[in-house]
Parts: sequence; structure tokens; C-alpha cells
Amino acid sequence: MTRRANHRVRATAMAVIAMIGFAACSSNGNGDGSGNGSGNGSGNGNGSPAQVDADGTTQMDGGVLQTQIDALPLATLTADQEAGLLRMREEEKLAHDVYVALYDQWQVKTFSNISKAELTHSEAVKVLLDRYELDDPAAGNADGVFTNPDLQALYTALVEQGSESLVAALTVGATVEDLDIADLQSLATTAPDITLVYDNLEKGSRNHLRAFTKQLVKNGATYTPAYISQADYDAIIAGEMEKGIAG
Ligand SMILES: [Zn+2]
Repeated sequence: MTRRANHRVRATAMAVIAMIGFAACSSNGNGDGSGNGSGNGSGNGNGSPAQVDADGTTQMDGGVLQTQIDALPLATLTADQEAGLLRMREEEKLAHDVYVALYDQWQVKTFSNISKAELTHSEAVKVLLDRYELDDPAAGNADGVFTNPDLQALYTALVEQGSESLVAALTVGATVEDLDIADLQSLATTAPDITLVYDNLEKGSRNHLRAFTKQLVKNGATYTPAYISQADYDAIIAGEMEKGIAG
């Protein structure tokens, strides 16, 4: 839990880029024709891989994602980029596993809805592991079991923290999304296929952070970010849910 302030500037820049990148594109079979066709060049006309429900739950469409990734050039990954993919594969799994455990305990729908979405986030990273023929660190691991010892320890700590109260559980939810955003930003790379996946995961995390924050407010609580800056957090919360489909 070291990195923090040092990527504040880039964090803001990345947030802006991500919003620009995915606000414009879209269209998932609703035959739109709407047309804000702005065009920053990163749009693709095939729809966003991120599918956003009314409550902000953001799933990755594996088919759309695969098609878009297939169209991008293969990169030569550095050791850091490879390690980043391995970490994110398990970090998205951690989100799923923690939310499953917290749903079991608190029966709050936000946890079950978002846990399912987190599974698709982890699978999105798996697409890249397969593409670069990297061994899957999550292979064969049950919920709550991780290859990365830091994530194993974090899982245990978060589930324990979330068992204290509903507000504590919702705070854990916000914390996981906060961590995801910070890690995705710190792992940002020029490889276009990784960028495509990470940008969409980050968008999902922003929406999920909004969803958990909304639940916290409903329960009379607030969230103080532990990984991203307060300014970045405030900017995310001030924004609307980012839809993946035309709107
Ligand atoms: Zn996620």
C-alpha cells in the first residue's frame, strides 16, 4: 500500500482520457443513429466492451472485448507489464471473492450484483494472459485463494473488516474499487490491448465506487479514499455513472 500521491497527476490525466475514450463510442444493438460522433480516434464503432446496468454495475462483454483485442497489434511485453497482468487478474478476482463473502454475510444486493461483474473483469484480464501465453495465477483457485501473497493477506483483512458492520462492509467495497483504480493507473502502459482492457476496468471501478459510495451515504456514512487522491475521488463521485451503451 505504498503508491499513492506519486501518480496523482497522471491519475487525473488518465481519468480524463478514459472518459473521453469511452464516452464517445458505443451502440450495442439498439440501432442508435444518435450521433455524438465526436471522434477522438480511439472509438471503434463496435460498441464498448463495458455494459452498464441502471445501478452502475459494469460488466465486460467478453465477445466484444475479444473482437476488439484481436484487431490490435501484439506488443512485446516487459516484465513489469506481465507482472501487472498477473496482479490484475487476481486483484479483480479479489473484488469478486470479497463481495461474495460480504453478500453472504449482509445480503445486500449491491454485493451480489457487483461480484458477478467483477468475475467478468477478471476474465477480461485472462483474455490478455491467454493472448500472451502467460500462466494464469488464478487457475484452479477457489474463492478466497490467491497465488499473490499480498492479495491473499488483503483478502483476509478485508473480509474480516467487512464483517464488523454493514457500513464497514460497504467501506470495504469502496476500498477495493479505490485500490483497483490506483493500481490500474500505476500500471498504465502504451500497449494498446492492455490499455483497452485497463481503461474499461477502470471505468467499471469508477462506477462501482459510485455505487458503494451511494450505499454508504444511504447508511449515513462517507468514504475517505485510501489509494487515490481525495480530489480524484471527489471528481469521480461528482460524475454520473458512465454508460457503456448509447445514451
Ligand atoms: Zn473490477
